[in-house]
Amino acid sequence: MKKNANEVWESCLNYIKDNINKESFNTWFIPIKPIKIKDKVLTIQVPSKFFYEWIEEHYIDLLKSAVRKELGSESKLVYSIMMENTNGNNVPYTIKVPSINKKNNQNINLNLPPEVINEEIKNPFIVPGLQKLKIDSQLSLNYTFENFIEGDCNRLARSAGYAVAENPAGTSFNPLLIYGGVGLGKTHLANAIGLEIKQKHPEKTVLYVSAEKFTQQFIEAIRNNTRNDFVHFYQLIDVLIIDDIQFFAAKEKTQDIFFHIFNHLHQHNKQIILTSDRAPVDMSGVEQRLLSRFMWGLSADLQQPELETRIAILKNKLYKDGIEIPNDVIEYLAYSISTNIRELEGALISLLAQSSLNKKEISLTLAKNMIDRFVKSTTREVSIDYIQKVVCDYFDLNIDSLKSKTRKRNIVQARQLAMYFSKQLTKSSLANIGAQCGEKDHATVLHACKTVNNLSDTDKTFRVYVEDLEKKFSMM
Ligand code: ADP
Ligand code: MG
Repeated sequence: MKKNANEVWESCLNYIKDNINKESFNTWFIPIKPIKIKDKVLTIQVPSKFFYEWIEEHYIDLLKSAVRKELGSESKLVYSIMMENTNGNNVPYTIKVPSINKKNNQNINLNLPPEVINEEIKNPFIVPGLQKLKIDSQLSLNYTFENFIEGDCNRLARSAGYAVAENPAGTSFNPLLIYGGVGLGKTHLANAIGLEIKQKHPEKTVLYVSAEKFTQQFIEAIRNNTRNDFVHFYQLIDVLIIDDIQFFAAKEKTQDIFFHIFNHLHQHNKQIILTSDRAPVDMSGVEQRLLSRFMWGLSADLQQPELETRIAILKNKLYKDGIEIPNDVIEYLAYSISTNIRELEGALISLLAQSSLNKKEISLTLAKNMIDRFVKSTTREVSIDYIQKVVCDYFDLNIDSLKSKTRKRNIVQARQLAMYFSKQLTKSSLANIGAQCGEKDHATVLHACKTVNNLSDTDKTFRVYVEDLEKKFSMM
């Protein structure tokens, strides 16, 4: 009985699978769909022109022998290529081309648009007429490693980044994916890696691009029929940094092209650095085949900075700008703003601006006023650090004792109040609150909350404490 296209292709795949590595197989053969078989001509559908070119260039011998094995020596292969829509209609169309085995038949001309054959590479960053010889890395010079303060919150990502900078594509961190919430330093760190590589390996072509810009360039390339130039340009890069790849979500065509560029770079030992505002598992709208590639290397997260790191970041910034402000003001800022470094810097800048505009000295009072206006409007969450500080100030205790394991009665009470208010005023889990209040577990925090409720019902003095503290927090 004659086999149908699916069966033939199935057998071809089995043969191919045994002859190449798994990654290449998954990348280049799984996406192919058998379309039909007629008179020993097998038609297969490939997702893009680029895909077709790639297969013809790299896998044609293997593919041919697989097909011959199935259909005999007279067999032929025809590609059906899914084309990008360039005429403004949304339906993808396909074109059919016979396999030409480029290597042996260099001069067979296809009925393809001319840019397939035209190899000239255009740089999408360069405005026509303003030709530049070297590719500008688009890096921002301020975002260096030197300025990137190290803390527990970023240690893994920072040291992985540093390792990559020392030895691009030479570590197992390829791609290096840096992820974390808004304003936690992803762009800064990715930039720092790029700058460091340029310094240590001046021969490498480094390019920083936001996913948004990449997408715009791609759309532009489609519009101008220069898709191949676009791909070729990106394939020239030794170190490609793409910022905020969550932007690719639900943009299938862009993901497709990025997938190809990614594969090309990775296969040619080029370094890829990506950032995202969420972990790969949470990136909905990004295709599985891309997500699984992100996992090939290292995903390192940036977390919210600890108090000491926030203080160090502010101090570093002031030092760089040659400005001095009192320590208690720095601490106040660092206590008040905990979830976003950009906001923290913003508060500092607006404090400096206010003081110079109103010719007022920078003081704690000015800082408090400013924070009230500056931060309150942006629905800020109080930090556990801040709650602890307020409670400690109120009882005139040292914050270290609150975080210690001591069982002294007055400290236990303050600690329980800090836990209670942390539960009330933040979104932190019981476990997280416990961890930050003397390494207690969630049951202890729960118990603390109950105790505070009970005591404020039964103990007058205690109720005053709670009310006083509530007032302090509500005034923030
Ligand atoms: P993201 O890209 O994650 O939103 P950015 O990289 O833009 O965040 O960082 C926001 C601001 O915080 C920048 O001005 C950056 O310089 C600063 N910043 C972030 N992390 C650090 C750090 N560890 N040390 C010093 N500055 C930092
Ligand atoms: Mg960013």
